[in-house]
Amino acid sequence: MVIQTANGPVKGVTGKRAIHLMEEADRKKVPEIHEIWIDIGAQSKKEALERISIGDAATYDHEFELIHGSIGTARAFDNKVGAYVVGETLIRLSREPKRTAAKVVAVATSQEEIGVRGAIGSGYSVDPQVALVVDVGHATDHPDCDNRKYGETKLGGGPMICRGPNISPKVFDALVKAAKKLKIPYQVEGDPRATGTDARAIQVARGGVATGIVSIPLRYMHTPSEVVDLEDVERCVKLFVEFSKGVAKGDYRNW
Ligand SMILES: [Zn+2]
Repeated sequence: MVIQTANGPVKGVTGKRAIHLMEEADRKKVPEIHEIWIDIGAQSKKEALERISIGDAATYDHEFELIHGSIGTARAFDNKVGAYVVGETLIRLSREPKRTAAKVVAVATSQEEIGVRGAIGSGYSVDPQVALVVDVGHATDHPDCDNRKYGETKLGGGPMICRGPNISPKVFDALVKAAKKLKIPYQVEGDPRATGTDARAIQVARGGVATGIVSIPLRYMHTPSEVVDLEDVERCVKLFVEFSKGVAKGDYRNW
């Protein structure tokens, strides 16, 4: 682990009693959060508190790596990869010969995982007419994932375009149209409830915003070894560029 402190990063490991020192029943037990600790090599509590402070955040020490072809692994692809998509979309749009009719604003929101807090603020400040949300979605093409429960989506199958109560049907249709025009593969995902994405906040910002969601297929969400296909990420950027170019003046006003 890496603990981010005022004096720079401090390294540590999540220690666990060796299997030799466990009773049979303990070996099968998954530790509770209060049974896990980070060992930073300190001799005492006093020494530990000289190096770190209460409340310092810790992250897994695992960096990006390509494992095969365009398939990469990293921690927190969810949702660094989404921030990449919106930033890259702006760069590509700035290189287009023709200016878009729409003013395009990219936002990297904070604290989505703990209550879409960044999106509440930015939805209010940006006051958009139409919004695209990019997040990661579950690729269910691996062992031990019941497709009857979680649907059939795969890594490398292209962006997942979502449908459901958080999503404007008009935006969904425009995204599908853009994917078809680009001739890129895409997958449709049904999201029957409030989604776990920023769309939940942006859809109801101010007087309401026509919102769409595009998910990048990802395996092993919220583990330190998330996996994405970079081809899907690139297709997502292309989809966002194409969608943005297609927005005409007055679109989505009476969504
Ligand atoms: Zn997440």
